[in-house]
Amino acid sequence: MNEEAHCKTYPQDGFSRSTLAVHGVTLFDPVTGAISTPIYQSSTFCHPGLGKSTGFDYSREVNPTRQELEKTIALLEKGKYGLAFSSGMGAISAVIKLFKPGSHLIMSEDLYGGTYRLFNDYYGKYGYSFSWVDTSSFASIEKALKSETAGLFIETPSNPMMKVTGIKGSAEFIHRHGGLLVVDNTFLSPWYQNPLELGADLVVHSGTKYLSGHNDTLSGFIVLSDPALEAELRTIQKSEGASLSPFDSWLTLRGIKTLGIRMEKHSLNAKRIASWLREQSLVEKVFYPGFEDHPQYRLSREQARGDGGMVSFYLKHAEDVAVLLRSVSLILFAESLGGVETLITYPLVQTHSAIPEAMRLSAGVNDRLIRLSVGIEDPEDLIADLSQAIETCKKERNK
Ligand SMILES: *Cc1c(COP(=O)(O)O)cnc(C)c1O
Repeated sequence: MNEEAHCKTYPQDGFSRSTLAVHGVTLFDPVTGAISTPIYQSSTFCHPGLGKSTGFDYSREVNPTRQELEKTIALLEKGKYGLAFSSGMGAISAVIKLFKPGSHLIMSEDLYGGTYRLFNDYYGKYGYSFSWVDTSSFASIEKALKSETAGLFIETPSNPMMKVTGIKGSAEFIHRHGGLLVVDNTFLSPWYQNPLELGADLVVHSGTKYLSGHNDTLSGFIVLSDPALEAELRTIQKSEGASLSPFDSWLTLRGIKTLGIRMEKHSLNAKRIASWLREQSLVEKVFYPGFEDHPQYRLSREQARGDGGMVSFYLKHAEDVAVLLRSVSLILFAESLGGVETLITYPLVQTHSAIPEAMRLSAGVNDRLIRLSVGIEDPEDLIADLSQAIETCKKERNK
């Protein structure tokens, strides 16, 4: 493939994010005219001659379908480089290898449980150390700083408590101390938030979630603009081999085409459901960054263009949890998030089971916390489903 030919037909600079999401970096395949990026299901590529290459030699290293996806995610995240991995954890696992053993990282305490398990249980053994703090409080970040601190890793909004951490302030702080800021941008996706523009060094994604958007594939990303870090990450990617497959690259590319309209609908539905939940007598508290009384509402407005589709809430009584989970019928009781289908999750036993109890409770993940990944169905149908499930809880309780 002649990359220069693509660039000539499609100058990306002038286009908005909707257009970029639909078209990616390549308008069409220059060889065949195919509008959908072909799935180059080939592990290896023929060399034109000794010392010559088409730019593609072996798919663990570079594959044309994956390359189109990597360039597209970089474009949407406003970074120079994108790297696609076989899952979000594959991407996050590559990021930690940028740090030398002995490094200390300050981490959001309220983050994806799998990240906690990978870092604490696994990389802890290799000489890394971590402080798990409420990064939405700047004082907590400052207090955790050590002479060996080399990075700050945040999730914002956080999972599942929807706390918002200031990206700009975090970047300034860690840069003053010579470290890197890593932002897990899975929850808002590049549609609503671009951490690199706010000073982050690395953005990571579980592409399994909003980017692919249909609960049908796993993928993960790192996006960045520093060429030295990119070179190192490329070596890690090709050496470890957690590169995304051509087919899953294509599925994720197809998902990204509708990222914008999906995110807008996820957000609208989530706001509607969050407001409805607030009025329910069985519900104690609802966590959603789009509420004006959310503690970091203004910060969220400053750094993000929308609120996303995630809503968490506390039920008043732990006994209602099992009844609610069993009584929803349209809403599906399952892990994961960011797909078109609405999912209900019980973080205590699902996404956050790897986190020790004291830390989990201090972050707010108790036995009454429920998380919703609001899909793009009709919101009235979703509310009707929640409503009948809540009525069942009331009935069971009055027995
Ligand atoms: C799901 C998730 C991950 C892990 O991604 P996988 O694709 O499941 O490996 C990391 N961070 C966040 C915020 C997630 O929601």
